[in-house]
Amino acid sequence: MLRCSFCGKTENQVERMLQGKNGFICNDCVLASYQMLYEPDFDDYEDDEGFYDYSNAENNYAVNDVKRGEFIKPADVKKILDRYIIGQEEAKRTLCVSVYNHYKRIFYNEKSNSEEDVEIQKSNVLLLGPTGVGKTMLAQTLARILQVPFAIADATTLTQAGYVGEDVENVLLRLIQAANYNIDDAERGIIYIDEIDKVSRRSENTSITRDVSGEGVQQALLKIIEGTVSNVPPQGGRKHPHQEFIQINTSNILFICGGAFDGMESIIASRINSSALGFGAVVKTAKEKSDDKILHCAAPEDLVKYGLIPELVGRLPVIAVLDELDVDALVKILIEPKNAIVKQYKHLFDLDDIEFEVEEAALTKIAEKTIEKKTGARGLRSIMEKLLAEIMFDAPGDESIRRVIITESFVDGNSELLIERGAKMKAEPVKKKKSKADKDAG
Ligand code: ADP
Repeated sequence: MLRCSFCGKTENQVERMLQGKNGFICNDCVLASYQMLYEPDFDDYEDDEGFYDYSNAENNYAVNDVKRGEFIKPADVKKILDRYIIGQEEAKRTLCVSVYNHYKRIFYNEKSNSEEDVEIQKSNVLLLGPTGVGKTMLAQTLARILQVPFAIADATTLTQAGYVGEDVENVLLRLIQAANYNIDDAERGIIYIDEIDKVSRRSENTSITRDVSGEGVQQALLKIIEGTVSNVPPQGGRKHPHQEFIQINTSNILFICGGAFDGMESIIASRINSSALGFGAVVKTAKEKSDDKILHCAAPEDLVKYGLIPELVGRLPVIAVLDELDVDALVKILIEPKNAIVKQYKHLFDLDDIEFEVEEAALTKIAEKTIEKKTGARGLRSIMEKLLAEIMFDAPGDESIRRVIITESFVDGNSELLIERGAKMKAEPVKKKKSKADKDAG
């Protein structure tokens, strides 16, 4: 029987066994060696918050250097996104491709000087999906991976010039501030505009201080999204004739807009149903089609019908849909991402030398309760905080607590929090993560 000289598995435990001069290697070990050699070990390049520290990366994998024409590949961006954002596969893939093309476009357009060269158009993105499913997080994480400046704006607080509220230029100012006033960097940044659906024409969410339709805000946004040279007052606030303005060209800024678009399902359904008429197709009603999936069929004309102005819709050619999070996804969000809530609590308790656990059934229960709240993953933290409010208050002063366990019945309110007591071992300082230098040395 042949045995892999590396892992010791026999030939019937693996799919393939390759023979060399002095031994054998199985397909698993070939793959593992390949990954060790050619795929970046993310941990080596992380900064304190778990994001890439490019100054450490000697190879070319993780470089996103627009000036040099080196871009991090969509698949590599996604690999890092996966460590922070659970599910939302379609949206993640779409976004990875858009940002890759976006930065290639900037490089290509800057380099090309011939009139005949094709000018690649900017592909801003619209993220469609209910609240709390990761739209903001996706845009923000992306900006951090790419190491470009990032700013968030809420469309509902923006106004058309001349009305009370925030001018669109303030959003640009925030981006400039995120870039430490380096205009070159800011001009390649990402801006996330939340709640774009709330400034649609048909939105009821209007106030007296704003133009009645929301259309003025859309017009103002349109101007910066399509690319303009904007004059930004340096201190923010209202424009004043005697202020010195900062000039910023917005044509290379990537805009990601997000919105829940409540009620969009019926608009899409009626379009699909009416266009299917006359083809003898069996037409399903909107309810028969899963509401969740029908959003994936959203088309520009649906957005116009919803109340976005056609010019703005035209500037958001990429639509990515995020799905409602189910119990499985919520449980994963609790425990898996690098900064998962349970991991954070474990760390907090660890500082007091207390072990912290959440039973599997309790995780499911927490996820189920979160779904009832209809605030997406946002509800997870508030539920956890409520469950642990008391013990977080008591634990630091109680030397006898050794272990804290959240059980299903505790989540249900049928029993107390499970606390194990006993003499503590002498508290050790919290282990520090090995730095790259340590790793190299040892
Ligand atoms: P949205 O912009 O869609 O309303 P956010 O991105 O602000 O939602 O999500 C709120 C919080 O919920 C995030 O900060 C994150 O902690 C968590 N969260 C939401 N969706 C996910 C996801 N898919 N994976 C991991 N965490 C998520």
